[in-house]
Amino acid sequence: MIAKIWKRLLAMLPLRSLRARIFVLILVVGIVPSVLMRYGIVENYEERSVEQRTSAVQNQLMILANHLISNNYLDNYRSQEQTYRNSREVIDAELELLSNLYEGRVMIINSNFKVVQDTYGISEGKTMISEEVIRCFQGENISHYDQEHGYIEMTTPIMDNRMAVQTGESSTIRGVMLTSISTDSIAATMEVLNRKALILEALMIMAIFALAIILSIVLTKPLNRVTEAINEVQAGYSDESISVPDYVETVHIVDAFNQLIGRMRVLDDSRQEFVANVSHELKTPMASMKVLADSLMAQGDVPAELYREFMEDIVSEIDRENQIITELLALVKMDKKVQDLNIVSLNINDLAEIILKRLRPIARKKDVEVVFESIRPVIAEVDEVKLTLIMNNLVENAIKYNKDHGWVKVVLDADHQFFTFQVSDSGIGIPEDSLAHIYERFYRVDKSHSREIGGTGLGLAITKSAVLAHRGSITVTSTEGEGTSFLVKIPLIYIAQ
Ligand code: ADP
Repeated sequence: MIAKIWKRLLAMLPLRSLRARIFVLILVVGIVPSVLMRYGIVENYEERSVEQRTSAVQNQLMILANHLISNNYLDNYRSQEQTYRNSREVIDAELELLSNLYEGRVMIINSNFKVVQDTYGISEGKTMISEEVIRCFQGENISHYDQEHGYIEMTTPIMDNRMAVQTGESSTIRGVMLTSISTDSIAATMEVLNRKALILEALMIMAIFALAIILSIVLTKPLNRVTEAINEVQAGYSDESISVPDYVETVHIVDAFNQLIGRMRVLDDSRQEFVANVSHELKTPMASMKVLADSLMAQGDVPAELYREFMEDIVSEIDRENQIITELLALVKMDKKVQDLNIVSLNINDLAEIILKRLRPIARKKDVEVVFESIRPVIAEVDEVKLTLIMNNLVENAIKYNKDHGWVKVVLDADHQFFTFQVSDSGIGIPEDSLAHIYERFYRVDKSHSREIGGTGLGLAITKSAVLAHRGSITVTSTEGEGTSFLVKIPLIYIAQ
């Protein structure tokens, strides 16, 4: 039942909010101890007061018990002799005083369980056999606090050790005093104490409530500031990096956000740069075509040969434009997050042979020798079109950027996990400071030279994307004027993401 109510309460409270959690936490941590403290203090007071009162009355009763014995009260309670009557009156007066003092009743019971004295005067002469009295005769001191009716009941043995002193035997219990005292005064004090504690507690709860409200607002403020700052950036009011240094945690969140924003800006910049580059690259052949066409139009009688020559130039510019667009499309396809790879198990040696066969005529034109060294037969799970692109681009570059009478060496090897495809050449090499950029779109070491030999600057960008799509790696080493070597490493078994 309580669990159910608790669950309902939790569902009602917006406890997923940090502010609500802090509020509830402070409330619980503040109020529970104050309630427990009040209970603790009042309970402790009651226990100690009852204990003190019991032991004070017990002491008085012991003294009285000694008086009873020394005056032979129990033996002579009926005697009419003047001396006994006198001493009895003294003791009775002491009893009266005691019972008045503690608002109680004292009964003296002799060994025949007869009540010889009752300060209330109602039970004298009666027989009193109760469990407490019997147990007291057996030597047990009993005290019992009845909280409900507000009294303490206790029994005190009346010991006679006069014989024991002479004979050395244990003292005998001659009678029992059955006493009950009121605890009304303790209850009254407790009530006052409780009332004061309650007032104090109410004040404390109010203070804790106020503190909980203030702290829950103040402590969560930096988080709101983070949200505000992020919203400002999102709305475009600010493109500065944000800073909320209030907590270590907010610093971490803000740092992570700033890094994210930084990455997004870099991405944005590179996208803009890419668009600018694309436009520029596409415009160049257009401009050439326009110049060619304009000059044809400007002349009145153009000889047929010149026409043909100009038209051939225009066609080659169109081819170039076409090549750029085709490569751009290939790159865009490669950039898509989820690429449609058509993975098949393929004989890589055969594929390399086919590609080299296709490229050898171009090599022959430059008098470049192409050598293929296959260390072992390789069968791997790859996308045939993309692997063809990789191999084709690397070997074509090795031929394109070679010197006349140079060589290109292609080595295919494998271990139990990867196959490697290495393309080395005796070409012009790549300057060290360009090595880091060759995979960038439209990057060319020597723009005019590259254009001359039909380069778009997209080949290596496509190659790298295709290698990464296979979860492989590509590395390059080069010495300017001596040659370049590309090493591609691809897993034999395709690992899907
Ligand atoms: P491109 O279409 O211009 O060849 P790539 O992306 O294939 O573009 O290559 C980028 C640049 O890297 C090239 O312009 C060239 O300067 C350089 N490069 C690539 N491969 C080689 C190589 N084997 N030897 C020397 N330079 C190379």
